Amino acid sequence: MQTQTTTLLVIGGGPGGYVAAIRAAQLGVATVLVEAQKLGGTCVNVGCIPSKALIHAADEYDRVRHLAAGDGSGASMGIRTASARIDVAQTVQWKDGIVARLTGGVGALLKKHHVTVVKGWARILDGKTVEVQGEGEAVRISCQNLLLACGSEAVELPSLPFGGKVWSATEALSPERVPKRLVVVGAGYIGLELGTVYRKLGAEVAVVEALERVLPGYDEELTRPVAAALQRMGVGVHLATKVIGMNDAGDAVRVRSAAGKESELGADAVLVAVGRRPRVTGWELERLQLDMQGQFIQIDDRCATSMRGVYAIGDLTGEPMLAHRAMAQGEMVAELVAGRQRRFDPVAIPAVCFTDPEVVVVGKCPPEAGEECLSAAFPFAANGRALTLSAADGFVRVVARRDDHRIVGWQAVGRGVSELCTAFSHSIEMGALLEDVAGTIHAHPTLGEAVQEAALRALGHALHI
Ligand code: FAD
Ligand code: NAD
Repeated sequence: MQTQTTTLLVIGGGPGGYVAAIRAAQLGVATVLVEAQKLGGTCVNVGCIPSKALIHAADEYDRVRHLAAGDGSGASMGIRTASARIDVAQTVQWKDGIVARLTGGVGALLKKHHVTVVKGWARILDGKTVEVQGEGEAVRISCQNLLLACGSEAVELPSLPFGGKVWSATEALSPERVPKRLVVVGAGYIGLELGTVYRKLGAEVAVVEALERVLPGYDEELTRPVAAALQRMGVGVHLATKVIGMNDAGDAVRVRSAAGKESELGADAVLVAVGRRPRVTGWELERLQLDMQGQFIQIDDRCATSMRGVYAIGDLTGEPMLAHRAMAQGEMVAELVAGRQRRFDPVAIPAVCFTDPEVVVVGKCPPEAGEECLSAAFPFAANGRALTLSAADGFVRVVARRDDHRIVGWQAVGRGVSELCTAFSHSIEMGALLEDVAGTIHAHPTLGEAVQEAALRALGHALHI
């Protein structure tokens, strides 16, 4: 068997693993990265990127469809078109092209930085040795530092196992055609992002959620405009409802409401999006006997596991299971391995849900911030730019300490608010006060003026409301 030695061995080429490998190599650390499938991991191949591509395509089609129907904001602007048509196979091809460009880009970056990429499935032998089975002979790699970045996989419901017409997000991202009726199980990130895509592409969509509201991880005020928009779009939302399974004919999902009432929701396809779990089996992780935190690998503020020289990052290590957290952890571990002093201690990790309207949360929401904080919101209905974009729904909200006005949280809901996230993160990470944001000149007319106005409102002197 071939053997290799290296300073840093990374298992997993997702956003956590590939960023760690690039940064380590930049710092002169000999680095090997093992990836069983495609570089870029879940995020680039079957997650963040393809979902956002389909969201954009569905938005564009929906706009044209409304123009053809002579309704919606386009019609009030006087724009008309004769008809709207979408070739979904072409849309999927376009999306695949973006994914291919990005996975190719990750490969090129790794090559440029002289990271050795080994294609194959890694199995742990011990904390310093891994065996990789690719297409040919197995390779044994020994290392001084081992970084685990194996990511996560979709949770399966025993009553609706994946296969056939029961889809995980992966199948939903590459449809052969748009099903006439789609049942979505789970009104979280994936269920609502992709449920909205399918509704805009013309499917009848019913969402089944076990808890009492959509996006239950976010505070209620923020999710209300999302729930209202789903209703306007004609998405059926069944809250406090559990799935029992497919009916005998296999053409409907049987559900039970909290009151115990059973019914059927017709389905040509079913998207199960009830969460993801860390990928901790199938690669003999158990050989390391690491301390665990629930189903996740336990790490400290240096992403060190309970075994010296073994680090873990990304979805393997807990919530929030987001690509930017994985990347930031990966970059830090690379610097630690190169001998730098680092800790993973962000003040806040932003979260964005790309629904229509979008939702952004950075830092603390009012209920969590408690009595020592104040909060103020500014509605997009009072923002000129939002009106010119026909995007008057939603608001920006700031949360700050009462005593010294230090900002501890920002939230927003509205069209395009994902791009405000950068300003939110900067102000929190840099310890900005309400006065700093209120005193900054924001360009006019932009959605960003609502950020300044929220800060002004918290200080008691908003100008445009
Ligand atoms: P992953 O990206 O899962 O990568 C792990 C890699 O390790 C995989 O390529 C896998 O093949 C490889 N691997 C695993 N085990 C082995 C082994 N034994 N040997 C060799 N290789 C192995 N996050 C966001 O921040 N924004 C979004 O908009 C967003 N949208 C999403 C949409 C969907 C539909 C999904 C499913 C997820 C989305 N996420 C989003 C979450 C995001 O994709 C993950 O948080 C992120 O990919 C985690 O990165 P990671 O490096 O930990 O693992
Ligand atoms: P999620 O945790 O966001 O939502 C799952 C939803 O399913 C919850 O509302 C939960 O109450 C509900 N649920 C659980 N069991 C159920 C059942 N038996 N019947 C009905 N409803 C049930 O999970 P997800 O949507 O699968 O996404 C997985 C993860 O991927 C997210 O937590 C996030 O970390 C990541 N992701 C992020 C983005 C983004 O950043 N924009 C987008 C997609 C996915």
